[in-house]
Amino acid sequence: MHGDLPIAVIGGGPAGAVAAYGLAAAGLPAVVFEARPGWEKPCGGGLTDKALRHFPELAAHLPAEANPARECELVSPAGRRALLPLDRPVAIFPRRRLNALLLERAAAAGAEIAAERARALIPGARGWRIERRAGAPLQARAVVVAGGARAAWPLPAPPPLTAGDWMATAGYYLPLERLPWPRQRMAIRFLPGLAGYLWSFPRRDHASVGVCGPLGGEPTAALRRRLEHWLEQAGVAWRGGDFYAHLLPAPTRGRLRAARFGGAAPHPWARAGDAAGLVDPITGEGLYYALRSGALLAEAWAQEDWDGYHARVQRELVSELEAGAALAHRFYHGRFLGAAVLERMTQFAQRSARFRRLLADLFAGAQGYADLGPRLWRQLLPTLGEVALAGGRS
Ligand SMILES: Cc1cc2nc3c(=O)[nH]c(=O)nc-3n(C[C@H](O)[C@H](O)[C@H](O)COP(=O)(O)OP(=O)(O)OC[C@H]3O[C@@H](n4cnc5c(N)ncnc54)[C@H](O)[C@@H]3O)c2cc1C
Repeated sequence: MHGDLPIAVIGGGPAGAVAAYGLAAAGLPAVVFEARPGWEKPCGGGLTDKALRHFPELAAHLPAEANPARECELVSPAGRRALLPLDRPVAIFPRRRLNALLLERAAAAGAEIAAERARALIPGARGWRIERRAGAPLQARAVVVAGGARAAWPLPAPPPLTAGDWMATAGYYLPLERLPWPRQRMAIRFLPGLAGYLWSFPRRDHASVGVCGPLGGEPTAALRRRLEHWLEQAGVAWRGGDFYAHLLPAPTRGRLRAARFGGAAPHPWARAGDAAGLVDPITGEGLYYALRSGALLAEAWAQEDWDGYHARVQRELVSELEAGAALAHRFYHGRFLGAAVLERMTQFAQRSARFRRLLADLFAGAQGYADLGPRLWRQLLPTLGEVALAGGRS
């Protein structure tokens, strides 16, 4: 192994910046290539409590950089409304600031930030050669591909995602004062016939509003029209807002199980974050998985355990994502007690404090998918009691 050479990290988003920070903090030279430093990556920007617990240095930026959302309005496809208090707020960051904070931390730990696009990745006798736009290529002993959802690099294992493993997204950034909701309220609206949702995520001085749906389903233009219609109905002036569209991984169970996230041959390599397809297939939460995969990578590679990253990702992240993927179809298309799951969920949230606590735990990441079923069944009878009582009262 060529210990004198740096580790190249391609992509300075959350996954790449956290990996580079961990590697540099462990004394390993790391170079991060970031093609678009300071860009506002299309995103809601919502960091759950689970992410904040793992990365308390980000929680420290509340509320100066991130808006703490303390409640979420849920609206079902039929228009049923429920307001969910979030006892552990979701921290909503502008992505430009989140990325900058993480990259600054990596640089302070000693990582080199190269503000340029890595153009090609070629295995050679002494490790990886990274072609740059100008100047000599970088020779690296190992490479981390953290270039986001569109990163398709010829690594030893095929990309974990293919057609059918994606969501299309579209949205606008709008000034906060155009929104009808209180500034610490997130809004999520489900629509008939859409296995996705509309959202409004308020940041400190603007909001990211958007829509997601399966790629290959409705064209993005149709999704965009659904979003604009919703905004108009809510009385939001969206014209003139900055438009965005992007891809969001939504991996299936089989794909997650078969994926290879990194290895030692022919030279150490890894994929992290969106480039590895590590996104919650129901909610689209990817920031936690990007941050955590970056940290797991640094943990393994700091010990020169080049194969250990794959096992860590499988153990800690994939099992939960697989459980989510197994539920995703049921969530959008299933029925429960004679009604669509989304209708029942919103009705229970309206009427049962116990069920609202469960949803708040899901939002916070304190309740995972893997053990969701047993809790739902355990509390079904008391929940139904609360629902019936509230129904009688109303
Ligand atoms: C519309 C939308 C809303 C979302 N909302 C949320 C949310 O509210 N909460 C949440 O948890 N998740 C959300 N996500 C998911 C989240 O945005 C991603 O999971 C997260 O950004 C992944 O981080 P990453 O570091 O893997 O990739 P990215 O954040 O995409 O970063 C990759 C970086 O690599 C750089 N890059 C790519 N190729 C190269 C190259 N060849 N050379 C140099 N640099 C390169 C890019 O410029 C980019 O900065 C959302 C996604 C979308 C699309």
